[in-house]
Formats: sequence, C-alpha cells, structure tokens
Amino acid sequence: MRHVFLETYGCQMNVADSELIAGVLERAGMALTDRPEDADAIVLNTCAIREHAEQRVLGRLGDFARLKRRRPGLVVGVAGCMAQHLRKRLLDDPSRALDLVVGPDGYRALPELLRRAAGEPVAQVRLDRDETYGDLEPKRGKGVRAWVTVQRGCDKFCTYCVVPYTRGRERSLPLEELVAQVRAATARGYREIVFLGQTVNSYHDGDHDFADLMRATNDVDDLLRIRFTSPHPSDMTTRVIEAMATCDKVCPQVHLPLQSASDAVLKSMNRTYTLEQYRAIVAALRSAIPSLALSTDIIVGFTGETEVDFERTVEYLQEVRYDSAFLFKYSARPDTKAFHWPETVSEDEKGRRLERLIELQLAISAARNDEWLGREVEVLVEGAARRGDRQLYGRSLQYKAVVFPDDGARAGELRRVRVVATTSNTLIAAAPRATAAVPELVRIGSSDSAG
Ligand code: SAM
Ligand code: SF4
Repeated sequence: MRHVFLETYGCQMNVADSELIAGVLERAGMALTDRPEDADAIVLNTCAIREHAEQRVLGRLGDFARLKRRRPGLVVGVAGCMAQHLRKRLLDDPSRALDLVVGPDGYRALPELLRRAAGEPVAQVRLDRDETYGDLEPKRGKGVRAWVTVQRGCDKFCTYCVVPYTRGRERSLPLEELVAQVRAATARGYREIVFLGQTVNSYHDGDHDFADLMRATNDVDDLLRIRFTSPHPSDMTTRVIEAMATCDKVCPQVHLPLQSASDAVLKSMNRTYTLEQYRAIVAALRSAIPSLALSTDIIVGFTGETEVDFERTVEYLQEVRYDSAFLFKYSARPDTKAFHWPETVSEDEKGRRLERLIELQLAISAARNDEWLGREVEVLVEGAARRGDRQLYGRSLQYKAVVFPDDGARAGELRRVRVVATTSNTLIAAAPRATAAVPELVRIGSSDSAG
C-alpha cells in the first residue's frame, strides 16, 4: 500500500480533514498521487449534507468500481460524513466494489484500516466524543491561507441537518494547541488563518471562549489576517463582536447563516433565534465594524414553508443586502427530525423559489460590489489570475476576489489597489499605487451565481 488517491467533497471542514488524512498517510510512509490509475488505494472524503452531494459520490464510486474490475487489488474507501449511510451498502454488496468505510473520527487508524481492507471489508464508523486530532499535524495545501479546525461536531440539532449524526457531539481543541498550530503555519509561510467549526463561535476551552482565541491569535507575529466560518447567530456574543472589532488582524467579514427570515420556519428548524434577534446581531456587527461584508446560507422549501414565509425571506434579503449568499433547496436527510415530516413544498416550487432568490441576490451582490468602485482595497496576493493576461489575483479584507495588473507582487504580499470595475463576484482594480489617471469606472455584466 504505497500510493493513495484522495478526493474531497463538501465543505471547508472536509478540505481541512483531507489535509489531516494526508498528514496521517504520509507519516505512515504512504504517498498521495493525483492519478487514480497510479493508486493502490482510493479514498473519497465525502459530504452528506444534501442528497445531491451523496449522488455525486455514488456516481464517482461507479467510476472506481469499473477501475477496480480491471485492477482487483485496488482498495476503494469512503471517508467522512457518508460513512454511516454507506456502511450497510458495504456490508451488503457482494460485488465488493467498496472495501473500506471510515467515519470522521476514524482517521488516526486510516493506514492500518487501508492495509486490512486489502484483505477483507472494513467499517470503522464509531463516533468518538473525545477525538479532536489536536496532536496530528495536517499536510496543508499550497497557498497563503491555512485552515485550522478549532472544533468538531455540532450540538445544535437543527431539524433539517445531518451533521450532528455524522460528526457527533461538539468538542473544542485546547486554545494553547490552536495558537501553536497558527504559529507553525505562519512559520511555514501562511499569512491568513481561517478558523473552522460547525458553530465556530461556540468554541470554548475551559473559561476561554472564541473571543479569547481571536485575541490570542492576533498576537502571532507575521500573521496578517484571521477569518472564521461558520458562526451561529445564537453564539454571536458581545464579547465575540468586540474582539472582532478590536483585533486588527481579524477581517471585517462574517458568514452568518440565516436559513429563513420567517419566525415560524426558524422555529420548526430549531434555529434558536427569531428574525428580530438576528437583525439585532447584524446591527451590532455593522455598528462595531463599519466596513463589514456579510454573507449567509438560506434554505428554501423547508417542510411547512408557505408562500408568505418565503416572501419574508425575499423581503429580508432586500433589507439586509448581503454581499453574497449560498442558496439551497431543502433536501430531506435520513436521521434528522424533519425527515419524518411529510414534505409540503414540491420540487418545482422549491426550484421556483430558489431561482427567485438567486436572481435577487445576484443583483444585490452586484450593487454591493459597485459600492467599491473608485475605492482603495488592501489585497493579500494569492498568485496569477486564471483569466486575463498578466493579472494577479487576491482577496480584499472583505474576502472579495480582486484582480489587478501584475506588478511583480508575490503570493503572500499585500497591495493597495483602486477598484475600477466590478462583476457580481469580482473587483477589478488598476495597477498598485496608480495615482494619476484612474481609468473610467465601469461595471461588467454579472455572471456566476452567488450561491
Ligand atoms: N454549521 C453551519 C451552520 O449552522 O450554518 C453550516 C452547516 S452546513 C455544512 C452548510 C449549510 O448547508 C447550512 O447552513 C444550510 O443552509 C445547508 N443545509 C444543511 N442541511 C441542509 C438540508 N437538509 N437541505 C438543504 N440545505 C441544508
Ligand atoms: Fe447543522 Fe445546525 Fe449544526 Fe449548522 S448548527 S451544523 S445547520 S445542526
């Protein structure tokens, strides 16, 4: 068992988990390969949040089953959130297309499990209340940004969500350990840290809360920027908002999932806040951090969502004017409470509601970006832009993508540039330190969806 092909699906936490898995495999003498054809083992790190995510993984497993028919020695494994569901399929499938299923708390033993799976089917799906992987060094990806998982699992039990069942109970890593991880990443050249957790701002280590974690990290030399995702509105305390406002490295950007602007829907989702409370949090954030960029997650067509409930969400989007939003159709998930409630919104109607929100949010995102026209932004350079000749790409403090003419800046350096054009998802800027003639201001037609 020498070469492993690892493919990642789903959220940023899965990307961070894949870095953890890569570290575990390499320390066991295994090497990652980019080509499934060269691999002795294939591991898919999976997502179960919506049915569509699972379908994609099942389709991919079909591809690998064909590869396995040509190379019977190949070990095919599934890791992560789909593990619980796939366990039965693994044990019941006589064709042995799948050899290994390992849940989010089983990665420590992965090298051993892969070796065993070469001989017999193996399932390791036990959730472990204490596993944080705090002592394991991840093999981080390239770039200027390092993902640091500060908390695993979730205790919120939103009625639509499978995460508490696939990832288990909430547990935080020790603050000292996290600051050490940030120092190590910074020493290796990363300039931005993104703290990750399902409800990242409910982080706690003894008496220390998320505000303490931000303050402690703010003191790390050579680190330029701190971000986090996703906070839960109910844990957005005054202390957290104050720390965000006063720590100079914490970026003025928050992704604050709303899900719905109807109190009736929020209640049946078990979101633990009302629209009025959410509104007050947004007001407090915007007053403490005036240049704040705000984004969100919305689910349309949840069981029981009426036309009136949906209109509330439309109205609130117009009121709050998010910079961007991830918009989803409700997908009933096994194990969740809402799975047992008969659905009341047809797929067609969900599609119609989603389209309406996408169109609205695209217009708002474009208008939001237009507000940056003529202003200077600080960009953390990430490298060459994908499109455009000799253009560099980076992110502003508000996490907006910025493209500007190449002035020789290297990844990890900061530049101040003036925005001269926008799309609904990118700011286009003039060359750094352009002082004299600023080109005419234009907005280029919107393209991609916000969510
Ligand atoms: N923990 C984060 C939170 O509470 O906001 C994010 C969890 S999830 C990975 C990201 C988003 O997926 C959620 O905010 C929600 O909008 C969406 N989501 C979760 N379960 C869903 C479901 N059953 N159907 C559709 N969207 C769902
Ligand atoms: Fe899922 Fe709710 Fe936990 Fe987010 S807070 S992971 S939506 S249960």
